[in-house]
Amino acid sequence: MVKLCLFDGQRLGAVVDEEVADLEHFVGRKLPNNILKMRELISKYDELMSDIAEGVSKGKRTPKSSVKLLAPISEPSKILCAFANYRLHAQEMGGTPVPPKPELFLKAPSAVIGPGDKVILPRVPAKVFHHEAELAVVVGKAARDVKASEALKHVFGYTCFIDVSARGLPDNPLCGMLRGKSFDTFAPIGPYIVTADEIPDPRNLQIKLWVNDELRQDGNTRDMVYGVPEQIEYCSSIMTLKPGDLIATGTPEGVGPITDGDKIRMWIQKIGELEVAVSS
Ligand code: MN
Repeated sequence: MVKLCLFDGQRLGAVVDEEVADLEHFVGRKLPNNILKMRELISKYDELMSDIAEGVSKGKRTPKSSVKLLAPISEPSKILCAFANYRLHAQEMGGTPVPPKPELFLKAPSAVIGPGDKVILPRVPAKVFHHEAELAVVVGKAARDVKASEALKHVFGYTCFIDVSARGLPDNPLCGMLRGKSFDTFAPIGPYIVTADEIPDPRNLQIKLWVNDELRQDGNTRDMVYGVPEQIEYCSSIMTLKPGDLIATGTPEGVGPITDGDKIRMWIQKIGELEVAVSS
């Protein structure tokens, strides 16, 4: 039961109530690659669990408000995002049909930003930029051809994810997803990873998103068309899911426009709150 974070120059930490316990001395120094630190921790989690527990109890504590929390994973090997996975969202997108089996697309890992960072809206002729509040799965053990019934064993944890989207770009209508989803800063995640033991059932979590304190999205993961196990089964039938990979599981209804100067805040039950600013 840990809320793992990265803070202040890629230091490894655990969020405990309103404080951050510094795990660097206990765990971080065993993970030499600073940039891939969280990915390494996830792949070695079983052998590091006792060090993590020691760090949580003995690590230096600092108030959360006085550290800079970073994206908990800065370089996932890939980000997969579910397409039209909530019926009411599919409806609000002009009646997009719900796919007959899970359908996902790739978002560039270079789009990741963390809490307090800025979504930069690019100067492109989009009709609108949208927020999409989503539950993100953080892959634990590598997964290939995993059945849905076994899939949750491959989940390390969960975090908040905003699938920022540019709509209406004059792209090739047959393959317009690349520009719409993968601009730099279009993947805010965080503020930390809640390990899966705290969320045995990812199918009953409330998700909310506000823009400038106006509630825009208020959904529940029980309304997903395809649940986390089915999405893992489908993705792992195509590619190997690696430790630290992210699967954004789709957005409930209520997506809306974002513009320069906005503040986006999202919250998921049992996880916490992620806030980013918007700038052009
Ligand atoms: Mn989405």
